[in-house]
Amino acid sequence: MILQLSTYGSPALRKKSEPVKEITPELVKLACDMLETMYEANGIGMAAPQIGQNIRLVVMDLEKEEDERKPIILFNPEVLLAEGDNPIESEEEGCLSVPDIWAKVSRPTRVHLTYTNEKGETIVQQNVTGKLARCALHELDHLNGVLFVDKISMADKAMNASKLKRMAKGQQ
Ligand SMILES: [Zn+2]
Repeated sequence: MILQLSTYGSPALRKKSEPVKEITPELVKLACDMLETMYEANGIGMAAPQIGQNIRLVVMDLEKEEDERKPIILFNPEVLLAEGDNPIESEEEGCLSVPDIWAKVSRPTRVHLTYTNEKGETIVQQNVTGKLARCALHELDHLNGVLFVDKISMADKAMNASKLKRMAKGQQ
């Protein structure tokens, strides 16, 4: 089922989300609907606040080709920055909840990722890098009410100010 996306200005995007206490069939169904919605919108990640639910649930799939899909469902994900050499890189990001804006965001490049999967198993992925690390950090921010546009440069903020204002207005 395709779900309704919350966009910039929606209160759910600014709330801190609650941990998931028990993985129920309903929550797994919700995660599958989030994946379907994400694929439909051509995204690579989606957090529950983006569909108006303030729970700690994220879905991701870096593969855009339909026959190569590798979806992952993350309940209560935790991202720890990897110690030691961990350069900050600036890459362009976008967000399904902030349509039509792309801008560079600086993020650490190496993280450890821990989450509970849809079977209730604890998954620990050490030293995640590249696009997956960036995507996980972006989605984790969503669970804490943070959007990528909070982290863009002053120049990019200024350039997109009227677009953001219009979007926020549309939510009232
Ligand atoms: Zn996003």
